[in-house]
Formats: sequence, structure tokens, C-alpha cells
Amino acid sequence: MSNSAHPSTSRSQISPPALRSTQNELVVIAPNPHESCRLTSSKFLIFMSKPTTFTSVGEIRAALKNLPRPLALVPTMGALHDGHLQLLRAARQQVGPEGTVAISIFVNPIQFDRSEDLQNYPRPLDQDLERCCEEGVDLVFLPESSSLYQPDHSTIVTESLLTKSLCGATRPGHFDGVLTIVLKLFHIFQPESAIFGDKDFQQIALIRRMVRDLDLAVEIIGHPTIRESDGLAMSSRNQRLTQEQRRDAPRIRRALLAASHLQKTGEQNREIYLNAAREHLNKNALQEFKIQYLELVDQATLQPIAKVTAPTILAVACFYDSIRLIDHVSIDPTKSD
Ligand code: AMP
Repeated sequence: MSNSAHPSTSRSQISPPALRSTQNELVVIAPNPHESCRLTSSKFLIFMSKPTTFTSVGEIRAALKNLPRPLALVPTMGALHDGHLQLLRAARQQVGPEGTVAISIFVNPIQFDRSEDLQNYPRPLDQDLERCCEEGVDLVFLPESSSLYQPDHSTIVTESLLTKSLCGATRPGHFDGVLTIVLKLFHIFQPESAIFGDKDFQQIALIRRMVRDLDLAVEIIGHPTIRESDGLAMSSRNQRLTQEQRRDAPRIRRALLAASHLQKTGEQNREIYLNAAREHLNKNALQEFKIQYLELVDQATLQPIAKVTAPTILAVACFYDSIRLIDHVSIDPTKSD
């Protein structure tokens, strides 16, 4: 198997960014001036603003050969918020000051089930790069879709059990797209570890399953959900909410917590949990607010449960107009607090 489809393409053919080194900083000037970035105490920044197919992957592979190990990877779709930044800090903790923290920023088209969502996904690249600089990220991978997917790409990764519920059931093909891009990134970076948010708990469960089932040599590290002060889980999509919707959105967290508190009374009945959460979600809700799913699933299998007798997740996906938000809470009847 060859790593590069075009091994004869040389570095000079892809107009790499100019590098200017001063005493303690590295300035990287990308072909497109607005993508330039000043990196203080960082080692490398790789811009893939105008990559050619496969060459970009070849380039990043070549760069990776010179970067210190261990390497921790944080895959994202950009529009970085404090939740992402905490993942980057966890990555730094994982590899230490001498290791490499890498981030990928890529709005992966094949994981979007609604073209409207893909088109409107925020892409504040300058701000993202600034944040990466501030966090001391060593390497940013900004591939274009054409550098990762051939027009006739036809290989995808499908998980067939944990995807049956929740987002897997309501977003056809979504997790195929997620697992495919994550596997590609793992192959490209060969990271010792990769950091993901527990906010997307089905996603991280699937990635762990893929790593186990396909014998991948990467440690998957989960990071707790980072929230706004009013409890709303941070999400790149939050910035698309109107002011009124943003004020209303903490109801999602409140509803989950209110239902989960039933566990303290010894409640086991599935419907009672779901009704309690649904009632809070719908009470005086905005007209454009809609629940997509509200479900109680077993924490290990992610399959719906009839009775809360083992560690359980109460999960919700909802819409404000076309803006989709998710959240969940753990309910563990085996623990008394
Ligand atoms: P995204 O850019 O939405 O694909 O997310 C990239 C990574 O950040 C994923 O592993 C997410 O689970 C994680 N993430 C997103 N939002 C949060 C949050 N509020 N707290 C912690 N991790 C998050």
C-alpha cells in the first residue's frame, strides 16, 4: 500500500507557506495573507489552504516525521469555543511540554445529513487560528475536502450496533461519516492519543468501539462537557441561535437534570423519566422549539431500556428552527450520592 497517490509531486509544487523565524516565535505566512498567523512558543503550523489531492496528506506525513512524540490529536470542525480549548489543554497535559499537540479543523461534508446544516456551519478561520496560537498548539491541519475525498471515494466505516439508537437512528449516515474521517485522521497522524468530548457521548462510544474492533493503537481520552454559566452545553451551533432562542436554550439542561433527580426517589419507570423531561422541555417553549428524540438508553449498549436499574443515559436532541442541539445526563442507580 502506498501512502501517496502522487509520490512524484514535490514540495515546491504546492507553494508552501513562507516561514520567518525571529528570536522566540515562528511566523507562518500562508499563500492567502488572511491565513497568516504568528505563533509564539509553538513549533510548527501547517497550512493546507490550497492542497492538491493526496499531496496534502503526504505533506503532513512528511512534517510529522520531524515532530516530537508523543502526539495527541484533537479532531474538530472548527468554530472553536472553550469546550474545544479544554480538549487542547487536555491534549497538552497528555503529551507534556515536549510532545506535539495537533488539531484538525475540517467541516467533514460526509457526516452531514442536511445540506442546510453543512452550508450554515460557522467557519471563523482567523479566530480559530488565533485560538490555536494562544493555546500553544503545535500543528493545525486544515485540509480541503478534495484533499481527503476523491470524487469517486467509495469506502466508508460503518458500525452496526451502537449506531442503532439516538443520533445514529435520526441522522442517517452521520456516524459513517464521522468514523470514516476519524479513521483517516488516525491513519494520517498515527497519534498516541486522541481527545474527544463526552458531550457527543454516542460519537465517543463509537470511536472507542472502532478502535477496539479494528485494533487501532491509539488511546481515546474523553473530556467532560464544558458548559456556559447557565448550563447550556457549549456548541459551535449555539452562535446561530437568536438572542431569544439562546435565552431559552438552558431549558434543555434543566429538563434533563429535573428528570434525572427522580433517581433519588428510587424511580425505575422509563416513561416517568421521559414524561418529566418532556414536560420541562415543552413548558412555555418557543414555537420553533421541537424535540427530535428524547430517550433513555443503557450506558454500555446505547439501546433503549425499559427500567432504570443499571447506569443509564437520558439523552435529547432538539431543534430551534433548523439548529440542532444535543445534550445528555447520566443516571446511575448503582451509586447513591
Ligand atoms: P466538533 O467541532 O463539534 O466536531 O467537536 C470537536 C470535539 O470537541 C468533539 O470531540 C466534541 O465532542 C468536542 N466538544 C464539542 N463541544 C464540547 C463541549 N461543550 N465540551 C467538551 N467537548 C466538546
